Amino acid sequence: MGGSLSVEPAAPPVATRNPELSLRRENGQREVFCGLTSIVWLHRRMPDAFFLVVGSRTCAHLIQSAAGVMIFAEPRFGTAILGERDLAGLADANEELDRLVADLLVRRPEIRTLFLVGSCPSEVIKLDLGKAAERLNAQLAGRVRVLNYSGSGIETTFTQGEDQALLAMVPLMPASPPGTEADQLLIVGTLADAVEDRLVDLFHRLGIPRVSSLPPRQSRDLPSIGPGTRVLLAQPFLSATARALTARGGQLITAPYPLGVEGSAAWMTAAAEAFGIPPAQVAAVLDPLVERGRRAVAPHREVLAGKRLFLLPDSQLELSLARFLQRECGMSLVEVGTPYLDRALLEGELALLPPGTPISEGQHLENQLDRVRAARPDLVVCGLGLANPLEAEGIATKWSIELVFSPIHGCDQAGDLAELFARPLRRRELLRFS
Ligand code: SF4
Repeated sequence: MGGSLSVEPAAPPVATRNPELSLRRENGQREVFCGLTSIVWLHRRMPDAFFLVVGSRTCAHLIQSAAGVMIFAEPRFGTAILGERDLAGLADANEELDRLVADLLVRRPEIRTLFLVGSCPSEVIKLDLGKAAERLNAQLAGRVRVLNYSGSGIETTFTQGEDQALLAMVPLMPASPPGTEADQLLIVGTLADAVEDRLVDLFHRLGIPRVSSLPPRQSRDLPSIGPGTRVLLAQPFLSATARALTARGGQLITAPYPLGVEGSAAWMTAAAEAFGIPPAQVAAVLDPLVERGRRAVAPHREVLAGKRLFLLPDSQLELSLARFLQRECGMSLVEVGTPYLDRALLEGELALLPPGTPISEGQHLENQLDRVRAARPDLVVCGLGLANPLEAEGIATKWSIELVFSPIHGCDQAGDLAELFARPLRRRELLRFS
């Protein structure tokens, strides 16, 4: 599972808009999961939706091993496997797809939304899933809604799968009724249900009564969007969705992301400011949370402080994590890699990184591994495929994909978030003395 294999010399660092940060752009071999991976958390979020990957056996294996086997429930994802005849253009893949979808919907009448998910193989044979979705929507006449997006691994990383899935939902969001546009906060990005409940309750206590989410818990309960809807991203990797929501009139609130105490407090404060809530009211709600969150982080800070951290580009959470681990946990940043740097969405994070932080955008795997080996950091945050080789070289690692599956958002989760990074270091210490 990978992306481009083109190898080009790494570009030298160039200045960012913040003159005190240096940015290195790289292009070469990449080592990331593809967008299909995001089905793992999206199908849990929307239990009435089904994700049908149109791909190869490789795609099926990826999803099956990433999501695990569902023992007690019927899976809500599957793969329409393109066989050799499809790939050679000898079979009508559209006909087969229609037949397969019809069978699926007879067997699974509870499905309300069907996502057709494109893959590398479906793109190679130029199977037009947009047209397929149109055709199926006409046949199904509203009984099931069919959407499509690409989870292909070419030039993308795995979190972009969620961005593409949410983007596909934006055109179906109803326009806000006149007169109600100005009082809605729209949280965008998948959160664990329990975390979302807690955050929504906090927004209510801050004085924001109408809070909705994209994606919703039921795929057909799409929130409205319109002028005055304040859009608050819970994840930094939703560039295309953010653009589509603002094109429909939503006003984007820019802030650091809700990872760690500081980021979560700043994120909620930015939303409160957008609704004109007085600072004293914000402080009354947030101060006890901040205090509690800091206490929860403290024991992990003892392990992390002074340790050197290298983040390889993978999840697109890297800048937010670097900010949290440096400012709240006392780690020093050797390098912060990110697959893509959307400055508009990450301005709040860039401003909080220390002067001179080396940032790299894109990936040239060999060059990055050379820098890791030369720096010998205490901890490397990286993709699954790199963790074992680095561990074998004596370098502690943290899988970045774990962070997308874990409930890490909000002040109350800051201790757990710090613990995720302290754990590999504690483990290494124990092994050293055992
Ligand atoms: S979509 Fe592409 S990168 Fe992803 S599993 Fe299928 S073949 Fe591999």
